[in-house]
Amino acid sequence: MANPDEEQPQLQQTQQTEDYLFKIVLIGDSAVGKSNLLARFARDEFHPNSKSTIGVEFQTQKMTINGKEVKAQIWDTAGQERFRAVTSAYYRGAVGALLVYDISRRLTFDSVGRWLNELHTHSDMNVVTILVGNKSDLKEAREVTTAEGRALAEARDLFFIETSALDSSKVNAAFQKVVEEIYNILSRKVM
Ligand code: GDP
Ligand code: MG
Repeated sequence: MANPDEEQPQLQQTQQTEDYLFKIVLIGDSAVGKSNLLARFARDEFHPNSKSTIGVEFQTQKMTINGKEVKAQIWDTAGQERFRAVTSAYYRGAVGALLVYDISRRLTFDSVGRWLNELHTHSDMNVVTILVGNKSDLKEAREVTTAEGRALAEARDLFFIETSALDSSKVNAAFQKVVEEIYNILSRKVM
């Protein structure tokens, strides 16, 4: 744990207002399904041939945790990850992250370590991170087993889930887990 005085300034800032706003970032290689996970979660939409450059900068979503309303401000890239050019502004103030790979493309799984390094370079806090193996519907094309995903998550101290933005499987659960955990950390601090 880092110095408690320096930890999670954003959480402390918002706690007086009774209005919880958590910045959460989507990271991971191009075309793993980040934008579609957000579209599915926030609008229950799926885009079969989406271009990586299309998407919102961020989307604010109301959620209920322990009977309390919180707002998740979920940030999506606009394709800059293709050029490994996600800026530090993207990460600034983030308290949660969904690190997404595609279970049907091993290369995207091999990139997870690099994304973790980048996340930790740009955020000095303990960002609540879930490793997300997306496209679980592509059973025939699977290149990364569930066990491999889970093992990596355990080794790097991350939460783990497999999702499908296409058939909606576990998409809500992935976002819910991150927000719940941030909320729990905050509650422990306040008490
Ligand atoms: P991003 O670059 O990480 O934002 O990825 P996108 O959300 O743009 O998705 C890239 C491509 O993968 C698009 O053609 C999507 O339709 C497709 N895709 C995204 N999620 C899934 C999924 O869960 N299952 C399948 N089969 N395809 C998906
Ligand atoms: Mg995208």
